Amino acid sequence: MTNIAIVGAGMAGLVCAQQLTQAGYSVRVIDKSRGVGGRVATRRLSDTKADHGACYLKPKGELLQHLVKLLVQKGDLEVWTDTLHELEPNSSSIIPNSPSSLPYTAPEGMNVIAKFLAQGLEIHREQRVNSITLNSQNHWHLISDTNEEFTASSVVIAIPAPQAVMLLEPLAQLLDNSFWKKLRSVEFYPALTVMAGYADSLPQPEWKAITFKDNPVLGWIGLDSSKRKIARSHFVVHSSADFAERYFESELPQVGQQMLQTAASTLNLLWLNNPQWMQVHRWKYAFPKTPLEQSCLAAETPVPLVCCGDWCGGNLVESAMHSGIAAAEHINNKLEQRKLPGINFLDAL
Ligand SMILES: Cc1cc2nc3c(=O)[nH]c(=O)nc-3n(C[C@H](O)[C@H](O)[C@H](O)COP(=O)(O)OP(=O)(O)OC[C@H]3O[C@@H](n4cnc5c(N)ncnc54)[C@H](O)[C@@H]3O)c2cc1C
Repeated sequence: MTNIAIVGAGMAGLVCAQQLTQAGYSVRVIDKSRGVGGRVATRRLSDTKADHGACYLKPKGELLQHLVKLLVQKGDLEVWTDTLHELEPNSSSIIPNSPSSLPYTAPEGMNVIAKFLAQGLEIHREQRVNSITLNSQNHWHLISDTNEEFTASSVVIAIPAPQAVMLLEPLAQLLDNSFWKKLRSVEFYPALTVMAGYADSLPQPEWKAITFKDNPVLGWIGLDSSKRKIARSHFVVHSSADFAERYFESELPQVGQQMLQTAASTLNLLWLNNPQWMQVHRWKYAFPKTPLEQSCLAAETPVPLVCCGDWCGGNLVESAMHSGIAAAEHINNKLEQRKLPGINFLDAL
């Protein structure tokens, strides 16, 4: 029996787990994936890596600024560029702009950020939680797809809201209307992401990343190889939400090729259409479309149950981290009201 079970080892779940672990609670984090980080994801390729989830961190508030500062000191993060680009609809001119906060990337892949936050935590990987019930002693009882069982006095659900709806559906009788209504109101945009590699003799573009405004097919393209110390070029291309909605279930090689074709003709870089290799990833829940304004969502259950994630208060890594802290505060207030480390938890890692 643990004090707290946390479902999801993305940024929200990891931050929440650190807050509570460092305050002395016994905490178990359970994630369905092999690695940690959720949408802060890096794929290993034959001779390199590509960030097919979060592209960079643009810290605005104190919490993310502090994390970035520590990871820059460790050599894990660095400024990628001081100029990001945009392409207006029906235009061929790529407009440079200086972002208000600089984009930081990780030469070893963005998931080093999650690995840093995961230090010292008890994490059960490759365990998809598919049942949560309240037993007769008022303890949460979680069962995973491999029949692993966890019992806890409090539970934190740190996964995208639509996945939380599916997981908690059988508990509907126990959950108050207000909680249910808010949880169900959160929708997500999907995305399709292409990773594509090219010969090293091709000319390098003058940009590192372009955001496509209102393009029916494309959302973003980045020269991912420029984050790494390698000669060969590879790009990461994210689709628009509309394109992902229409072609989500289509054959991946075809959608990948269609996205590269559009990028090649829109940017007038015809070789983009002929990669040496290509991989495509489906993100069913990529970005919150209708996030809540509050920083976490607690149910009025006999023992604590709270949901958190980027969809509480925003749509990026920074809101996921704030939401993880808010969920930890909620649980702590309901349990023993210990002193939580707050932003200082980072210094202990
Ligand atoms: C393509 C793309 C590009 C992005 N670019 C940026 C960017 O440049 N900058 C930025 O700040 N943000 C970016 N984001 C958003 C950012 O990645 C997210 O806001 C953030 O990572 C969300 O963290 P989270 O902890 O809320 O959720 P997630 O990262 O989704 O974590 C949820 C975790 O729960 C696990 N899980 C789900 N269901 C279960 C279950 N039943 N049992 C066990 N485990 C489960 C998942 O495996 C996952 O690890 C991007 C996202 C995408 C998809």
